[in-house]
Amino acid sequence: MTAPVIVYSADLVVPITAPPIPHGAIAVRAGRILHVGDRSWVCAELASRGIAYDEVHWPGVITPGLVNAHTHLQYTGMAAVGAGTYSGFDAWDDAFTDAYHSGSDWRADAATGAALALAAGTTAIADVVTDPEAASALHDARVHGITYWEVMSWTNQEWAARGRAEVEARLDALPSPPGTGLSPHAPYSLDVQPLHEIPDIVRERGGRIHLHLGEAALEREFEHAHPDPWHSRRLGSFRELRGAGFGTGATEFVDQLGVLGPDCHIAHGVYMTARDRAILRSRGTTVALCPRSNAVIGLDEPPVAAYLVEGNPLAVGTDSLSSSPSLDLMADVAALHVLARSQGYTGRDLSELLLRAATLGGAHAMGLDTGPDRTGYLAVGALADLTFFDIAVTTVDDTIEHLVTAGTGTASATVISGEVRHASTAFTEQTGVTA
Ligand SMILES: [Zn+2]
Repeated sequence: MTAPVIVYSADLVVPITAPPIPHGAIAVRAGRILHVGDRSWVCAELASRGIAYDEVHWPGVITPGLVNAHTHLQYTGMAAVGAGTYSGFDAWDDAFTDAYHSGSDWRADAATGAALALAAGTTAIADVVTDPEAASALHDARVHGITYWEVMSWTNQEWAARGRAEVEARLDALPSPPGTGLSPHAPYSLDVQPLHEIPDIVRERGGRIHLHLGEAALEREFEHAHPDPWHSRRLGSFRELRGAGFGTGATEFVDQLGVLGPDCHIAHGVYMTARDRAILRSRGTTVALCPRSNAVIGLDEPPVAAYLVEGNPLAVGTDSLSSSPSLDLMADVAALHVLARSQGYTGRDLSELLLRAATLGGAHAMGLDTGPDRTGYLAVGALADLTFFDIAVTTVDDTIEHLVTAGTGTASATVISGEVRHASTAFTEQTGVTA
C-alpha cells in the first residue's frame, strides 16, 4: 500500500533553496517532500500520476522547519536566571552557577524545553547536555538535530587519567537518533590536551563538534610582543598562554589545536576580530548567533553586519532560558535584523539572509543539509519539516520582511517528518488539523 499524500498549501511558500512561491504547495509522502511548487502545478502533477491526496490550506506562510543551532534544553527551569540583567559574563556565570547547584529535574526540564521549542516552530536543535538525565530530550521528543555532550573543567592530568575514557563512554551512551557529538565548553574552561583530543574522538565516530567561542571578553585577541608562536612553548591552557603574555585570541588558539572545521560550529562569536572571522570562513565553521542571550548577559553586540558582508556561514540559536527570555528562534531573528541595520548593513537581502540562517544555516551547521535525512529547506526528497506562520501575505518581499522583523510568536503549526507535531488553536480552526 502506498502511503497517503498530503498537500500543504499556503499563500506563500518559502523553500529557501528556490525562489519564494506565492500560492505554493508542498506534497508530502512517507515523511518526505514529494513535490514543491505552484499549488496548481503540484495538484496537476499528482493528478497526472493518478496519486490521490488530501489538501491542508493555510492562509499564511510556510517555511522549512526552524533550526535552533544553539541551546541547552536542560536549563529550561532556570528562567529566573535568564530574567535578570548582568554586567558581563562573570556576573551572569555567578548567578547561573548558584542556580545550577540548587538542584533540578534535568530530564523533566529538558522535555519541557523540547516542547516549548516545538511549539515555536522548531524542527531541529543543537542541544548541549551537561547531565546524563537530560541526554534523551531530542530522542524522546522525536526532534531532529544533534545532542552534544558537554565537556568542561578537565585539567591535562585528570583528562589523561580518566577524563578521556569517561567522555568517550558518555558520547557512546547518547541516545540516537538524533545525531551525536561533543561540545568542548570553551577554550578557557578546558586544558590543551582535552581540547586537542576531543575533535579526534568525535571524528573517529563521524560525529559533530560544537563549542562556545568568542562569548567571553577574555577570549579577545590583543597585541603582544612575543616573536614566537605560542604553540612553540609548552603551555597547558589558554589561561596559561595569557599568563605568559601571549595575546593570541581564542579562535586562533582552538584553530591551532585542530578543533575547527566543517564538522564543527560555534555559538555566539561576539568577540571576533576580522582575522578571527576569516579563520572561521576558511575552516568552513558556521557561527550560531544568539543575540538575545548576549544582551541578557551584558556582552557587546556580535558583529552581525561584518559577518554578513564578509560572507561567514551563519545560523541562529536561542541559547537556554538561563540567558534568554524564550526558545522562540524568530525573536532572535528579529533581534539580528535590528543589530545588522544599526551596524550599517544596508543590503535589501537582509531578511532573506536571516531566514536562511534560521533554517538552512542551522542545518548546515550540524551537517544535516545533505545526505538521506537532509532538512532546512524545501526540496524533493528532503525531510518534510515545515513551519506554518500566521503572517498576512502581501508582496513576497514585504511578507518575508514582516516575518523576519515581527515573526515572534507567530509560529502556528510544526510538522516534523510529515507529522503535525504542534498545532495552535487558530491553525486547527482554520484547517481542521490537530497535532
Ligand atoms: Zn550556550
